[in-house]
Amino acid sequence: MERTFAIIKPDAVAQSYTGQILAMVEGAGFRVVGLRKTRLSEAQAKAFYAVHAERPFYAGLVTFMTEGPVVVMVLEKEGAIAAWRALMGATNPANAAEGTIRKKFAENVERNCVHGSDAPETAAAEIPFFFAASELL
Ligand code: UDP
Ligand code: MG
Repeated sequence: MERTFAIIKPDAVAQSYTGQILAMVEGAGFRVVGLRKTRLSEAQAKAFYAVHAERPFYAGLVTFMTEGPVVVMVLEKEGAIAAWRALMGATNPANAAEGTIRKKFAENVERNCVHGSDAPETAAAEIPFFFAASELL
């Protein structure tokens, strides 16, 4: 059984989409094995998105991700990494398929409601960034 790391981003939490997104997660057959509401510090957001440090959108992304609380989650399912990316939809909601979270709720390529690990190595790094093993149940 595979695990992936997910974030409900500040835009979605602020607009009270948390419950609807969680219903889509559980409705798609994921088991929520870890869940916490938190607010990222600037240092956490910079470190979490360090892979994008040289990209033009990095500073704006860090500002966005720290503007309000987020919900961090670990999701479990067979093929969870690809399945969660599929349920999220394309990074730019303008390109996201019908029935995806980003199509339904996201405003634009930056304020796109959710994060998901993009590969097994990414999930393996992102899960312990936010959760101790004892918090995954
Ligand atoms: N992002 C942005 N502008 C872009 C591309 C990405 O603001 O042109 C933001 C957006 O919030 C995105 C995050 O940076 O979710 C990480 O980008 P990535 O390419 O990893 O997209 P994701 O994996 O989230 O689909
Ligand atoms: Mg990414």
